[in-house]
Amino acid sequence: MQNRVFNFYAGPATLPLPVLEEAQRDLLNFNSTGMSVLEISHRAKAYDEIHHETEARLKKLLKIGADFRVLFLQGGASTQFAMVPMNFLTSEKKADYIITGAWAKKAMKEAVRFGQVNMAASTEEENFKRVPNPEELKLSSDAAYVHLTSNNTIFGTQWQSFPDFGDIPIVADMSSDILSRPFNAQKFGLIYAGAQKNLAPAGVTVVIIRQDFAETANADLPTMLKYETHLKSDSLYNTPPSFNIYLLNLVLKWLENNGGLEEMAKKNQEKAGLIYEEIDDSAGYYRGHAEAGSRSLMNITFRLPNEELEKKFIAESTEKGLIGLKGHRSVGGLRASVYNAMPLEGAKALAAFMRDFRRNNK
Ligand SMILES: *Cc1c(COP(=O)(O)O)cnc(C)c1O
Repeated sequence: MQNRVFNFYAGPATLPLPVLEEAQRDLLNFNSTGMSVLEISHRAKAYDEIHHETEARLKKLLKIGADFRVLFLQGGASTQFAMVPMNFLTSEKKADYIITGAWAKKAMKEAVRFGQVNMAASTEEENFKRVPNPEELKLSSDAAYVHLTSNNTIFGTQWQSFPDFGDIPIVADMSSDILSRPFNAQKFGLIYAGAQKNLAPAGVTVVIIRQDFAETANADLPTMLKYETHLKSDSLYNTPPSFNIYLLNLVLKWLENNGGLEEMAKKNQEKAGLIYEEIDDSAGYYRGHAEAGSRSLMNITFRLPNEELEKKFIAESTEKGLIGLKGHRSVGGLRASVYNAMPLEGAKALAAFMRDFRRNNK
């Protein structure tokens, strides 16, 4: 595959090559149906199999059972920012939000429309270079849920482990690190993720919801904005993004064939480790944004000695087929997104480029 580049975009992001190849083979005639998945009715048996296989695969990878359900929705993670409080807050109820970045702030902004919100912690004063320590969290005693962002895509920080909130269900935005490592899902009432970072192309939003938590939801809401509607109809109340779900299924099959979440976590450690090593060994030439204890394995944010060199770095890396390294404007500098689908060779190529660039541009 001579003309494939190493794609470090934050999202939509790189997909595993075997997934794209399989989709290409299937494109005109899926499973001897004589049709593309793009064309099959969402009520047809051929689609129904894909739909339920995808759900089963996701549950198996996350090691969750019948007490959890998986939904395939639309509107992105951004719609979940509103759907979560719409369903689980009322004017009498309270929710705790932990503010670790721009996405968490957006989530909280929607929640205040529906109920009482307690900001349990924020690291904004430090430009979100870390996630809070458990001792810093000021939790309410009676919150309906506590919301956190597992990986902060823009700032390059990630919870290394999740705090213990007792019986209060965690609601987590896992858009940029879902399925990157094993974790105990049992403490989570609801997990949501826009697919376009670590799961599939843009257009499907995965929601994983614990049954007992789902039962506490408000009933009086517009049909499409109620989780209950989608739970009752198996995400088939209206037309789901069927081709995206098919691609998600292929990504999940690829994950299974590559050792599941345990193996993925090891590979992600190795890939991010190579790039952090270049930062740490550069005697301050490269400056990482995230504090060591909060470093993300998915999005690596760093700066160079000045903006001229940053521009040069981006121009020269692009020329070498290392694409999408420009950082988000709120952090500046560079960001390398190394999701599950980034091959080890990509991380090696970037690390080697960083070493050469530093030597040649003192
Ligand atoms: C990208 C991203 C979002 C926004 O997702 P959309 O699907 O575009 O709404 C929300 N949260 C996090 C953590 C993200 O990385």
